[in-house]
Amino acid sequence: MTAPRPSPALPRIDPGRCTGCGWCVPTCHVHLLSLQVSGPEGRKTSTLRDPQDCTGCAKCAVRCPFDAIAMVRRRSPPQG
Ligand code: SF4
Ligand code: SF4
Repeated sequence: MTAPRPSPALPRIDPGRCTGCGWCVPTCHVHLLSLQVSGPEGRKTSTLRDPQDCTGCAKCAVRCPFDAIAMVRRRSPPQG
């Protein structure tokens, strides 16, 4: 049995852009996204948990109507 390969990219959620609308939450087929209260104002923002289980499918990033989710590479390829 081979170990699962980590996805090449992970979603990065920008809390400044996230409105807490929650649209991304049901989009994740492996249930890694949830709304969490953060900051002194008690705003809700989307949060990724268990990033090792993320498949990198980018469905959450595509779904977000506010461009709050960007897919970023886990590791940059060697430079030069
Ligand atoms: S869809 Fe976008 S704005 Fe809405 S909760 Fe998810 S990350 Fe935040
Ligand atoms: S990239 Fe896919 S698996 Fe990862 S959090 Fe977004 S919807 Fe879920």
